[in-house]
Amino acid sequence: MNVRIAGIELGGTKCVATLGDVEGRVIQQFTVPTTLPGTTLPALSAILARWADEAPFAALGVGSFGPVGLTHGTPDFGHITATAKPGWRDTDVLRTLSAGHAAPCSFDTDVNAAALAERRWGAAQGLNDFAYVTVGTGVGVGLIVNGQPTRGLGHCELGHIRVPRLAGDDWGGNCPYHGDCVEGLAAGPAIKARLGRDHIHAIAADSDVWIGVAHALAQMCHAMLMTAGPRRILIGGGVANGQSHLLPMVESMVRESVAGYIPLPVDTFIVPPGLGDQAGPLGPIALGLDALDAHRIHAE
Ligand code: ADP
Ligand code: ZN
Repeated sequence: MNVRIAGIELGGTKCVATLGDVEGRVIQQFTVPTTLPGTTLPALSAILARWADEAPFAALGVGSFGPVGLTHGTPDFGHITATAKPGWRDTDVLRTLSAGHAAPCSFDTDVNAAALAERRWGAAQGLNDFAYVTVGTGVGVGLIVNGQPTRGLGHCELGHIRVPRLAGDDWGGNCPYHGDCVEGLAAGPAIKARLGRDHIHAIAADSDVWIGVAHALAQMCHAMLMTAGPRRILIGGGVANGQSHLLPMVESMVRESVAGYIPLPVDTFIVPPGLGDQAGPLGPIALGLDALDAHRIHAE
């Protein structure tokens, strides 16, 4: 039988369990609502157990909303850590999901995982330095430098940097930690809070609100360019996917802001994810394949 990889994407509102192959094809996929760990994780474990009963999967990847512990050998490795999401703080998701499975595992943020999927099968093929940005319920950035997701005290949290504000705009933002960080200005809930409305799908493309959103994202891209030098920046997520005028706005603002200091690629610099809606769910499949590769190299 062909190699089967199991992947779990843990999201703030829903989790996606994917059984995939080495080409990034989806064999089976199920969605489970994210409620409380005691309900959501057993539902995901049951799906993994069912797949393992059919035929053992070769590797397991888990990509999660953060913040997460990524340092091997520390007590919080494999955990969701300081999240404000009720019930999920300090949850050992990796050990819970991998229990009973002998397959090699890999764990990372949802956006680092999606970035790795985009490199294998999507819009970042052949690149060792690039970023995957999602603008949805939050602003998440998976930053790949020298071929690897960045590591450190935490993981890439570029969505929470503070950037120069658009002239004349002093709205305080809605990030519970930082107020007007990029997420506090540009994520879906920020736009809703700013406008005082529950639905933002129908806001006209020429509304001023998009100028502030694009400006915050462009300034984040500027900062990222000056630190890690991504050769391409993929921007997806509900807000970016739903507002096709945003990416060209961000791109022209980035070019204006960088002002020729770094030569930016002409027409493949800021692009949508190549995998569309599957970038997130296929992320853990890419993680699983990386775990399998590392396992094989180790065994040789
Ligand atoms: P998540 O970030 O939870 O994975 P999504 O990437 O789907 O989820 O993003 C959800 C956010 O995107 C919500 O805040 C939603 O209001 C917003 N959104 C969805 N569709 C659109 C649209 N067409 N225009 C603007 N915002 C949208
Ligand atoms: Zn913040």
